[in-house]
Amino acid sequence: MLLHNTLTKKKEEFIPINPGKVSIYTCGPTVYDYVHIGNLRSYTFADILVRQMTHSGYEVRFIKNITDVGHLTDDDVAQGDSGEDKMLKKARLEKKDPYEIARFYENAAKEAESEMNITPAHYHPRATEHIPQMIAMIEDLITKGHAYEANGNVFFAVESFTNYGTLSGNTLENLDVGARLSDPHPDKRSQWDFALWLSAPDNHLMKWESPWSTGYPGWHIECSAMSAEYLGDTFDIHTGGEDNIFPHHEAEIAQSQCATGSSFVKYWMHSRFLLVDGKKMSKSKGNFYTLESIKNKGFSAMDLRMLYLLSHYRSQMNFTWESLEQAKSNRQTLERFYKRLAEYKPSSEEVVDLDIVQALRAFDSAMNDDLNTPAALTILLQFITTGNAAMDSAKSFDQTAAIRLITETAGNVFGLTLTQPTTDIPSEIVSLAEQRKQAKTDKDFQKADELRDEITAKGYAIEDTSDGYTITTI
Ligand code: AMP
Ligand code: ZN
Repeated sequence: MLLHNTLTKKKEEFIPINPGKVSIYTCGPTVYDYVHIGNLRSYTFADILVRQMTHSGYEVRFIKNITDVGHLTDDDVAQGDSGEDKMLKKARLEKKDPYEIARFYENAAKEAESEMNITPAHYHPRATEHIPQMIAMIEDLITKGHAYEANGNVFFAVESFTNYGTLSGNTLENLDVGARLSDPHPDKRSQWDFALWLSAPDNHLMKWESPWSTGYPGWHIECSAMSAEYLGDTFDIHTGGEDNIFPHHEAEIAQSQCATGSSFVKYWMHSRFLLVDGKKMSKSKGNFYTLESIKNKGFSAMDLRMLYLLSHYRSQMNFTWESLEQAKSNRQTLERFYKRLAEYKPSSEEVVDLDIVQALRAFDSAMNDDLNTPAALTILLQFITTGNAAMDSAKSFDQTAAIRLITETAGNVFGLTLTQPTTDIPSEIVSLAEQRKQAKTDKDFQKADELRDEITAKGYAIEDTSDGYTITTI
């Protein structure tokens, strides 16, 4: 399998650290607002990676964090350590407790992901619950001479890490060309040093004791500490959106490699941004969409997923309503075909070979070429055309294999839910699905997850849709 590695800037053969296994970390949402369709593009890309790996036979361990502290408003300025904490700003504006804000938007993000049929991570660690691990890593960095304390603040000394800039190209020489930060923190030795720990003012609502001050962690140290906790010092793949490359991922590499002395991540994968009508999505421009706003215009989460599949994750994607219409029509073509296949009874004696093995091979080779979803989708649509022609002329073919092909490719790899005649689903399973729907309405996500496990154990997969759920056999 070839994957494009941002670190080397080329496609490389994927070789896992441990044969047959793959460990993946994704930077998850900062939970101060609803996730938007740009965030969902990045998460769906990571999901497709997880799904293709699983389909290829790997045992996948997938971790996606929840950033509920330390992500500052000026995350795109210099080293991302100036501005106000996004959580606290929202809490101030809404006159609420920051933890209430965090849990509310975390649940909203999980609900949106579930509707998008994004496979839940094995664990969603919250930054606020891993402060001791962050403090331990910062202590390690100070001991090893890579960080220093000043007035209760701790900074990473960028000059102490010779490989700084390898991921993004922002080496110190490149950064220094003509650049002078307007307002670097007065305690920094170099303007490019970045915060690991910041002392909190008295009225700050999210703060913890540390050897240096009562304060809070920098955004970058969170992912270094949480990935080490759940995936170890070195793991296979780290993903995120293109804006994460610098400063966030560059800083993660510096921190992790200096703290552990081991190499950090083998493959860095970044999806490019989603634009709306060619422009950056922003609330002030009125071109800001969430899954809810898409649904309000009569589209489903699966239409949006199909739209994401239509462009390669490494090309910028331009969202327009016309393109969503097109995606919806493609999804309907697929669903109609799947339903027709299940119900089809040939009347002619003539047997036709649909070359299903070859179709699966071509699909896999597109997906194994750096997750080329548009090419893989074209192969499926071609197969559908051939299959429909065979059914139009009433010929017989290996229907079971054709159904299996669609379930495996469109269902398991693309993550599209395929409607199946409900008569095939035993009432016991439907009853469990109804109980799960109720549990979700009651926001009892633990019960909902347990019911999903029970359904899976009985050989069925349940997927959420905009208007409920679909059940398919595994
Ligand atoms: P945030 O909650 O801002 O930390 O973003 C969560 C994830 O969504 C990160 O991986 C970002 O890179 C990604 N992201 C943010 N905006 C967009 C966008 N317009 N298109 C694609 N991905 C985005
Ligand atoms: Zn991160």
